[in-house]
Amino acid sequence: MQYLRDKQYYTDLYDLFTIKDCLDEVKSFRKMYQDSLADEKIKDVPQEEKLKGLNYFLNWHLFTTKGERYRSKAQRIAEMVEEDKKKQDFYDKASEPSNITCNTCGKRLFSETKILEDYIDTPMRVLFFFPCKTCKEKKGVYNTGEEFVSKPQLCPKCKHELNEKHTVKSKVITWIKTCPSCKFTEIEVDDFEKSHAEFERKQQEDKELLTKYREEYCLTDEKGKEYIETIEKMKYANEIFEQEKQKYSNTAYQKTVQLKKLSIAELEKLLSELLEKEKYIKLSFDKPEIGQFVIVPFTAQDADSSRKGSDSSINIQKIIKSVLEHTNWRLVNNSVIYRLGYASGQLKGYEEEEDLLEISGIKKEQKQQIDSEKERKYGYDNYVQLARMMGKHEGIENMRRRRLEKEPDGFFLEATESPYTCGICGELTPGNTTWWNLDGLRCKDCWRNIQEEVIPSLKHRYDNDDTYFQDWQIQSDFGVHPATRSKLKREGLLKGRELKRQDGTTYYTVYLIEENKEFLKKYPKKPGIKVEFINSGDGMKVKL
Ligand SMILES: [Zn+2]
Ligand SMILES: [Zn+2]
Ligand SMILES: [Zn+2]
Repeated sequence: MQYLRDKQYYTDLYDLFTIKDCLDEVKSFRKMYQDSLADEKIKDVPQEEKLKGLNYFLNWHLFTTKGERYRSKAQRIAEMVEEDKKKQDFYDKASEPSNITCNTCGKRLFSETKILEDYIDTPMRVLFFFPCKTCKEKKGVYNTGEEFVSKPQLCPKCKHELNEKHTVKSKVITWIKTCPSCKFTEIEVDDFEKSHAEFERKQQEDKELLTKYREEYCLTDEKGKEYIETIEKMKYANEIFEQEKQKYSNTAYQKTVQLKKLSIAELEKLLSELLEKEKYIKLSFDKPEIGQFVIVPFTAQDADSSRKGSDSSINIQKIIKSVLEHTNWRLVNNSVIYRLGYASGQLKGYEEEEDLLEISGIKKEQKQQIDSEKERKYGYDNYVQLARMMGKHEGIENMRRRRLEKEPDGFFLEATESPYTCGICGELTPGNTTWWNLDGLRCKDCWRNIQEEVIPSLKHRYDNDDTYFQDWQIQSDFGVHPATRSKLKREGLLKGRELKRQDGTTYYTVYLIEENKEFLKKYPKKPGIKVEFINSGDGMKVKL
């Protein structure tokens, strides 16, 4: 018997399963689609939409099935080969039991055929058949020396042992079982011609499936590796997203964001003013040493002659430390020296986020470990970059939401945060003049206008739930020429709320829908331009 086959046999077998898996998925989605057409609950969803939605999910399912089948392919095939090799070896090497004699006539017998017996619950065995040419009996003995004993077949009705006879007619064997006790009879027919034909038909069917679908459902090495990378990348992007988001739940991180990042000139001004109050005069900075950090040596003169030696140096250290606490500058440890009325020392400036985190109390090893190998491989991938940005955005939003507990109306952001676009007037404004609350980001002027109740607390202009419109929309959305607009305003049909700067100049006009019902009746909104999203498809073209 041949148990071990050539490599192609296993590849075909594996691919065939993959194809059948995929075809089953297509089948079940087809059924889902048919069912959805009759589903009362979603009867209002257009047929086209249902088809689109299900196609999307089907493609995603097929994408992962194909990919995951590829992922385990090499290993699974190796396992199958290994299993069959074990069988083959066992079968080939099983030694024939010696000195076997016929149970009837006692003659010495020699085996002609053997088969492998491999059941899950018993160790593998090889059964040798010993025919006796004299009495036409056949004796079975295992390689272990045990004799094969056929279990008697019992009558299903009375449990009496059945009599069995068989007749052979060309390739058809007919088995007739009769019960001598209750006359029960059973006839079984083994038609080898028919079962052979059936086997051939199945072989042919499998072959056709392979030819037709292999290319579509069984990934090549190139496509398979691409899949594995895509999944790995998506997982990594997810990790990065969570990690970025988590960063901002850390109080040290909040501190980092809130640190005042001072330039050297700003630092000099801040320090000299405060030190002079404490009678340390003529603060001067020496040439900085610029590396990972910026290190600046300084000297100051102690104008208070009552302070001497270490008293003076301890005192100036205390002052500098407390001044710098909320900035990105630190006094270098043990650098302060006092000599003959001069206090000197070194200041260290931090710039990079990593370093700033350290001065806010996060030690390097405490930071979440990122997989540097994956970072190198995927860190610059667009998908991962996007996840990083989104994680950061969500983390920052969460941090701001927490702050709302203490400042329920909202707050101005930090000067260091990037400039933001005002949600109402659209102007770009630095962080420290951007007011944040759950309604969005507003420049300081729009926020003042809200506080002074010139306008209600409006949402973002692209997300305004149709509560207001703006100057630019009057022409684009309602087809009213700017000249007509002024006329309509004078006549009072168009009512605008003018947003004014502190100096009284108008910088923006907001039109509340509520106050302009008459205008809107006369100038209804023109239908918008239809934006269609086209799915790139990734070459996945299965249609239901
Ligand atoms: Zn015999
Ligand atoms: Zn019976
Ligand atoms: Zn604004």
